[in-house]
Amino acid sequence: MEKLIFERSSEGRRGHLFPEPDVPVKGAENLIPKDFLRVSPPNLPEVSESEAVRHFINLSILNHHVDKAFYPLGSCTMKYNPKVNEEIIRYPGFASLHPLQQEETHQGALRLYYEMAQYLCEISGMDEVTLQPAAGAHSEWTGMMIIRAYHTKKGNPRSKILIPDSAHGTNPATATLCGYRTVQIESNCKGLVDLEHLKKEMDTEVAALFLTNPNTLGLFESEILKIAETIHEKGGLLYLDGANLNGLLGLVKPGEMGFDILHFNLHKTFSVPHGGGGPGGGGLGVQKELAPFFPVPAIEKIGDRYTLSMDRPDSIGPVHIFYGNFLAIVRAYTYIRMLGAKGLRRVSENALINANYLMRSLEPYYDLPYKQNCMHECVFSGDRQRKLGVRTLDIAKRLLDFGLHAPTIYFPLIVHEALMIEPPETESKESLDNFIQVMIQIAKEAETHQELLTSAPHNTPVRRLDEVRAAKELDVKYNGK
Ligand SMILES: *Cc1c(COP(=O)(O)O)cnc(C)c1O
Repeated sequence: MEKLIFERSSEGRRGHLFPEPDVPVKGAENLIPKDFLRVSPPNLPEVSESEAVRHFINLSILNHHVDKAFYPLGSCTMKYNPKVNEEIIRYPGFASLHPLQQEETHQGALRLYYEMAQYLCEISGMDEVTLQPAAGAHSEWTGMMIIRAYHTKKGNPRSKILIPDSAHGTNPATATLCGYRTVQIESNCKGLVDLEHLKKEMDTEVAALFLTNPNTLGLFESEILKIAETIHEKGGLLYLDGANLNGLLGLVKPGEMGFDILHFNLHKTFSVPHGGGGPGGGGLGVQKELAPFFPVPAIEKIGDRYTLSMDRPDSIGPVHIFYGNFLAIVRAYTYIRMLGAKGLRRVSENALINANYLMRSLEPYYDLPYKQNCMHECVFSGDRQRKLGVRTLDIAKRLLDFGLHAPTIYFPLIVHEALMIEPPETESKESLDNFIQVMIQIAKEAETHQELLTSAPHNTPVRRLDEVRAAKELDVKYNGK
């Protein structure tokens, strides 16, 4: 049998990209079952560097991404990925860390971890922050487990979680996964929590209200203090789904709005690349009554040393191995340090200005169900176009023809034919104007050339998919067509 298992030469180990293909591993036949050993060399293409680079560049631009053009997803802040973040995470002190190395040998990394938690406390107005959870939904799960541990410790575990009807799907999913019954709270005609309905449903079986603020309609819950009072009066907790923190930085602290616990989506608010499944970065902030239940290990500073402590007898336990998604945390930290307090405030101010500019510019062309000024995102309805035979899905597909990503569609569920648009602070006026012009053109096409929309997209590498079939018979091979 040919020996076709290779090892890297000592040079290769020091960082060469390609292994030397001619050094057989000694005794590989004994380590790997015979059936799994190759009998013929892999059929790899022999190409030059420039051919390889062109291949990957061309592949990368077949897909839409935030480095290519505007990516106006609602709810899921898609800002540019600062290149300095990528430079910082490559520092050997971060990139070459081993999770089992002794604490004395990576004090710098632990310090960053500690300071990041401090910054998030300052930004959110919370007493303590954990960075263990891997993303938003994972943070929600961690938060619900903490809420459960808190009420259980007080002698009444409680059975219900209240959730507004505009909420992100992960909220009821998380609450259910943690063993709670969910009760839906209606929105009023302004798109905000209906306080009367909330009061009616609030009782001593309610463990928490799961609230997003600004909510997923991009609207600030202006009665937040009354909402908090209603929940606290009966011993419940107020949980903030912090996915929309991009609209609050430096303007208002959730801790001062009455929230007891909130999660961060580092990948949304603090410019960590995401999409296509991650990896993201999560985190959870709490008021001090909830801190004893935090996952372990918890970062602590003793004198001038940083240490990971397991000493929390009431902890819900670990929720992620080691540090969570550490390099996502380093990127988010870099973004915060780069901007500073004033810069972070400008993030939210600009996000608000961008969203309102876009909303008012498109208001004459698309139905706007909630007319007040928005926060960092706005939600239109495609109802007017629907009456002409064009669905929101068709509008989203047509946008692709102009090299733009589609916004979030059909969410939140309470808006008919919803188009949920978030232009983050990092988009220029030119970029917004371009999007607005395209959306106006599409609104006009919906009146005159419906089939142009219903058959879109026309110039993407893959045309319209049969979405149900694509989901059921997943085929991720590229066949070159
Ligand atoms: C994105 C999002 C989530 C889920 O967060 P992930 O980081 O994607 O797990 C939850 N709630 C809202 C409002 C969101 O926008």
